[in-house]
Amino acid sequence: MCLLMKLRWFIINSNSQGANFLKAKFASLKGEWIKYHKKSSIWPGIKWVKNHIDENSFHVIGNGNDVSLWHDAWCSNSSIAHMLNVDNSRFALTSKVSDIIKDGRWVLPTELCSILNRVGVNPNLLPTISENKDQRIWKLTSNGEFSVPSCMDLVRDHSPKINWCKWVWMSCIHPRLSSQVWKLLSGSCSTDDRLKKHGFSFASMCSLCRCNEETIDHILWNCSFSDEFWSWLHSMFNLSKGRFFMDIITKTQSKSQAVNQIWFVAVMSTMVEIWKARNRAIFDEVTPSLPKIKITVLNTIRSSAIRIKGNMFNSVEELCILSTLGIGSRPIMTQKIIKCRWIPPPLDFVKINCDGAARGNPGPAGAGIIVRDFKSATIVSISQGLGISSNFMAEVSAIILGIEWAAHNNKTKIIVCSDSSSAIMSFKKNSIPWSVKGRWNSIRNSFQEIRYAHVFREVNFAADALAKQGTHLSMGQTLFHNGRPSNLATENPDSTYFRIA
Ligand SMILES: [Zn+2]
Repeated sequence: MCLLMKLRWFIINSNSQGANFLKAKFASLKGEWIKYHKKSSIWPGIKWVKNHIDENSFHVIGNGNDVSLWHDAWCSNSSIAHMLNVDNSRFALTSKVSDIIKDGRWVLPTELCSILNRVGVNPNLLPTISENKDQRIWKLTSNGEFSVPSCMDLVRDHSPKINWCKWVWMSCIHPRLSSQVWKLLSGSCSTDDRLKKHGFSFASMCSLCRCNEETIDHILWNCSFSDEFWSWLHSMFNLSKGRFFMDIITKTQSKSQAVNQIWFVAVMSTMVEIWKARNRAIFDEVTPSLPKIKITVLNTIRSSAIRIKGNMFNSVEELCILSTLGIGSRPIMTQKIIKCRWIPPPLDFVKINCDGAARGNPGPAGAGIIVRDFKSATIVSISQGLGISSNFMAEVSAIILGIEWAAHNNKTKIIVCSDSSSAIMSFKKNSIPWSVKGRWNSIRNSFQEIRYAHVFREVNFAADALAKQGTHLSMGQTLFHNGRPSNLATENPDSTYFRIA
């Protein structure tokens, strides 16, 4: 199915010979898909995935020539016809988005304004128009490019997320150990209770304590045999005793990374060794022996020492834990103090410090920018409300807001600074999220030079304050201030700021 979706996407979007051949075969001259029967081995498949492709496509408006006003999603997540529940067979809705664009501006008939209001689209917040071609983007990837894995994720069955997953697969745990723990925790081991569920009838007995019925929870957490083992392990790490996996694995959260990683190995190898002891008792009739398991677990911990990459705290307690386990000491985390400064831009440049903030991720978000010249004088400061957004999108929107201001004010040489390295990287690599692609496309050619710089937040506090102010504004609401607002502290180029890392 995913590959059929890829084929349909290819036919719609590519201008290659192959795509044009298939378009000529399955679409009319107007570009509409055929509605009559055609003998073909691929056409039924291409038709089958239509809804998936339509529902997850979005159009970034350029000149609007290639986008249907009614049937394509361009101003909202769905098409207007879909939101109005309009039956296409009854109306010939052939208008293009370019029909409501005149001289690069939106010109909306009153009826259309009321229709947009009816479907919850604000006619004053329509996408930015540019001279470029319209672009169809795939909503399921952040950069808008079609990918088969995103289709796989769309069509696969989504089971509820399990909370223990992230604790099992870690670089400090050998993959073989992780896979064994995965089997134990996912309940795929053939304990007596599972065999009974499959219709086998017999008297169940735990082969470790010979007292209770056998279930995986009993063997790992409740059995008196394993209980003794867990007590020993917890005492080695000076911890109070936990009762089940999530309780036990999170016990060391107040300790250093190194001790945490050793604890993870210890807990998982214990679980596996208890299970192996149970198997030996049943299949080889070997009486379970605590001392033997202890030695095996200690050996596993020692052999995993090479995978423990974390730092330890500078404390006697941690040193004792490591030496008891026979593991050498690890490097101690030291605090580094980094000097940073706000440097004014060169003579013909302006420097735009940008920051995005969100109260929650996602949450009410805001963007803040401050533009300063070579004399460090503030030209403008802007706060904008972004509605509900993620932290990353707030950072990206802030950069776009800054670049837009520069484009509209004829600043052709700019330095864009942000404390989000991922947002800066996405601009440097030109893989910006599709939701701002339209705005970016309309201004990207207005500049002689754009330099991007990642700065520490210690020298980006003015933009940070403006962004925080933006989180309290409603979506699209913008506060401009020419020059520096009296209540806004800005970075002093003569001062040195310190970052503790
Ligand atoms: Zn038992």
